[in-house]
Amino acid sequence: MTSAVVCTPLGVEQAALRGAVSAAVLRTGAGLSGRVDATGPVLVAGVAGALTNQLRPGDLVVAEELRTADSATPSHAAALLLGALRRLGLPVHLGPLLSREHITDGRHRAAAAATGALAVDTESAYLARHAPAGQTVALRAIVDTADAPLLRPGTAWRGITALRALRAAAPAINQWAAAAGDRQVMLASPRSFCAGVERAVEIVERALQRFGPPVYVRRQIVHNSCVVRGLELRGAVFVDEVDQVLQGSTVVLSAHGVAPSVRRDAAARRLRVIDATCPLVAKVHSEVRRFAEKGNTVFLIGHGEHEEVVGTRGEASDSVVVVANPTEAARVQPADARKVACVMQTTLAADEAERSAAVLRERFPALVAPPREDICYATTNRQAAVREVAQRSDLVLVLGSQNSSNSRRLVEVAEKSGAAYLVDDASGVDLCWLATARRVGITAGASAPPHLVGEVVRCLSGLGRIRVQEVSVAEEDVRFTLPREVH
Ligand code: SF4
Repeated sequence: MTSAVVCTPLGVEQAALRGAVSAAVLRTGAGLSGRVDATGPVLVAGVAGALTNQLRPGDLVVAEELRTADSATPSHAAALLLGALRRLGLPVHLGPLLSREHITDGRHRAAAAATGALAVDTESAYLARHAPAGQTVALRAIVDTADAPLLRPGTAWRGITALRALRAAAPAINQWAAAAGDRQVMLASPRSFCAGVERAVEIVERALQRFGPPVYVRRQIVHNSCVVRGLELRGAVFVDEVDQVLQGSTVVLSAHGVAPSVRRDAAARRLRVIDATCPLVAKVHSEVRRFAEKGNTVFLIGHGEHEEVVGTRGEASDSVVVVANPTEAARVQPADARKVACVMQTTLAADEAERSAAVLRERFPALVAPPREDICYATTNRQAAVREVAQRSDLVLVLGSQNSSNSRRLVEVAEKSGAAYLVDDASGVDLCWLATARRVGITAGASAPPHLVGEVVRCLSGLGRIRVQEVSVAEEDVRFTLPREVH
């Protein structure tokens, strides 16, 4: 068992935290002579000088990397502390922190700024050498800036401002100390990107290469903010409707599929359309057309506001009735109870969808359904994997965006066994959740990139030793071909 250490180099910094930080705060001494004996994670709190004009006195800096002139030590849990400080509403910046042997002022400050560090102090990186690799977090409050350096009028006031800011950060320091500790980490497998999402992202990337930016994309190509941001940086332009696309341009339709009216609108604007609809969603569209052409009322089990359901319903809007849950399944009234069919949104929670389907089957013995179920292999596998992991965990973290249906369903499945949270990335993980969680399960929705899981694991490794285990319930080798426009 490792224990966490909170330390400050100076007596005034220690005094600023006195009574506000529940753990003992060690005073390590200033400069190179500072010492700390640690077998576990270390948090260094104190003041620093700004190296960029973005920072003002009283701003906080969390070091993502602790640098000296000739070394760089990563701070694995930096994003967790950053998130805790942001939730407190404090002005906080994340970036490299430089430690130098002497106070950096005058011409030395420009040289220090040229290293790319956000701020400079005289201890953090040196103290990090006494802690296990990656397990030091440094939190510094800005005293002096390039345009208001040390030892000038106003320094005392700026010092008080910085020490007050440090004290305001005490609740986050307490959360870090409570969360520190060794853990078992269980990774659900399969997790993260499915074949439909990989295909959709690759379509946009290839379209950018082949046709050059801008490539327009109707709606989020997949429901993940990290993926969307990454493609935007490369020249993709996301729009709500095709009437926002310049005539004659290239537009990619998202993986969730669209109603036929969207294709008609795109054709009317003479757009080059590349269809990234997942083939498994396209299969549900063709089922709806087939059932509706035979005069059936088609019950579409799903969430009415979800883009996939909006697109699927658009195939035969006069015939489709959306059924959100078993209660609605018990109420729906088709035109003819002998001509009824049922399809499903691909990303539903399998148990919940089956309960709605069972009600419909019971009420309408003539109900027909596709020979193979609509909830896709990726949804089924990810739910089975997270169920397995959740049963062995104190807490489950699901990487995914709030508007991702399959990610939200993973949270619901995991919640049946205990605490589970949906987070966009590591900075969304609340240190308070970790205080009593020694066994942490992690998964990611089908639209969340795999590297997000790696970042959370890395953060946990900054709080103590971790043992990582893959919990696999299925192998996946599904690949879909690309449309000819980008083949
Ligand atoms: S979750 Fe399933 S239906 Fe949706 S894109 Fe992935 S493979 Fe296709």
